[in-house]
Amino acid sequence: MKIETHNAAETKAIAAEFAVTLKGGELVLLIGDLGAGKTTFVQGLCAALGVTGRVKSPTFSVMNEYVADHRAIRRVIHLDLYRFTDESELRALALEDERRPDSVVLIEWPNAIAYDFVADAVVTIEHASGDERTIRIE
Ligand code: ADP
Ligand code: MG
Repeated sequence: MKIETHNAAETKAIAAEFAVTLKGGELVLLIGDLGAGKTTFVQGLCAALGVTGRVKSPTFSVMNEYVADHRAIRRVIHLDLYRFTDESELRALALEDERRPDSVVLIEWPNAIAYDFVADAVVTIEHASGDERTIRIE
């Protein structure tokens, strides 16, 4: 699927549509430059899964956890690997423990490290011009 959005609200709406396809247990990668809208997409996705409260970029915290209110999904795990330089940092997170049937794991900047994630979906956001973004979900 490929779609153009013209503002952050539209990107959040696309994320909410994507959220409908989630059943729990998924790993989703978010690819795109700084400011592309990855975190904005996560905010829309979290809202659609019933997360209340502010969803912030985990650039410094690396991993944030949110409580969801959805029939099957109870937690959203949001990571940003932007500052990672090698795979050992990933191992230290013990991410496999976070992949549960009642959780969705969302990873920004998976390409910061060489690790080959086995993902259920890849969201690629391209900054076209101004507020226009091209979003691809595969
Ligand atoms: P990333 O996580 O990819 O670095 P963010 O989501 O943090 O990016 O930031 C994207 C910025 O671009 C936000 O300030 C958002 O309001 C703005 N923006 C403007 N137009 C769009 C759009 N069409 N989709 C997503 N974000 C947009
Ligand atoms: Mg971000």
